[in-house]
Amino acid sequence: EERHRLHLLQAMDLAGRLYHHLLTETDHGKEAREYLRERGILPETMAQFQIGYAPDSYHFLHPFMKRRGFSEEVLAEVGLISERERRGKPSYFDRFRGRIMFPIQDSQGRVIAFGARILGDGRPKYLNSPETTLFHKSHFLYNLHRARKGIRTKEQAVLFEGYMDVIAAWQAGLTTGVATLGTALTDSQARVIRRNTEEVVICYDSDSAGFSATVRGMDVLKQAECIVKVAQLPDGMDPDDYIRVRGADAFQSEVIAQAVPFTAFKLESLKKEFNLRDTDDRMSYLNQAVNIVAELPHAIERDHYLRRLSEEFRVSLDALKQEQRVVASKKR
Ligand code: ATP
Ligand code: MN
Ligand code: MN
Ligand code: MN
Repeated sequence: EERHRLHLLQAMDLAGRLYHHLLTETDHGKEAREYLRERGILPETMAQFQIGYAPDSYHFLHPFMKRRGFSEEVLAEVGLISERERRGKPSYFDRFRGRIMFPIQDSQGRVIAFGARILGDGRPKYLNSPETTLFHKSHFLYNLHRARKGIRTKEQAVLFEGYMDVIAAWQAGLTTGVATLGTALTDSQARVIRRNTEEVVICYDSDSAGFSATVRGMDVLKQAECIVKVAQLPDGMDPDDYIRVRGADAFQSEVIAQAVPFTAFKLESLKKEFNLRDTDDRMSYLNQAVNIVAELPHAIERDHYLRRLSEEFRVSLDALKQEQRVVASKKR
């Protein structure tokens, strides 16, 4: 059992080294190198993250690995090759073809899966390894093994959507970034974060998918007893875009350092659903805002936000407090 697991890890390790070699040292990787260069990824970052390239062929990795003593069963088990029927017989082919390869490493830095991006446009843009005995997506956070130290020192983790965001941020000097891999944040991922730090900054893409994921992610993190902040990017940008356009310093000082607390973010995003020049709408907003505030566990925090609402909307603090008590008693 344990020996089999080691053998699977050896397969992934060798594949990772082959892909990295192909990207950095061979003609196969030329176009991919150029692509990454254009995206601002430096050679040292390619080395550090062991980024690789899978050639655009159905039979590149497969024969190579076979010669190195890895059976088709093993290669299929770790998701490096896929099987299809051919004239009644099984036949195997490389799962990853013509893609930039991002090794996904466990807490000890061992490769357990790959994320793979197509060069330029094309579908699907990203292809990950399937669930395997080594890789359980819903428990996993990309880059945690590298970021753990930074997270513990800074007492803060930054949560991104994708590998490119984590890598671009790392290159910009932010060593506390982790990412879920194209799925919604799970309870178990939130608990993993909480074991390393209390404070989490969500830094998702500034588009509608990123917004919904932020709203869901905040609640999952709150459930895990994290202190949640939200970093805000200009419309339509993701962290990687922002860093490329505005630079590393702006990213740290304007985006990460300016992340707003969970409740402020909720109140701000709720506002967008109302026309605040309309009196009825303004009252509905205030009602729902008070509902959000009433959820907060600490009286000091509730007081802070009620005061802000009172000043912003020129209603008495007493009225807001009364309203909040009504909401709270209904909940009980
Ligand atoms: P790029 O900047 O290279 O275009 P991105 O990281 O901005 O990519 P998004 O489309 O914002 O890509 O997706 C964010 C993340 O979600 C990706 O990094 C990837 O981890 C995951 N993801 C996106 N599409 C898929 C997919 N089809 N299958 C699996 N994971 C995906
Ligand atoms: Mn996105
Ligand atoms: Mn993105
Ligand atoms: Mn992007």
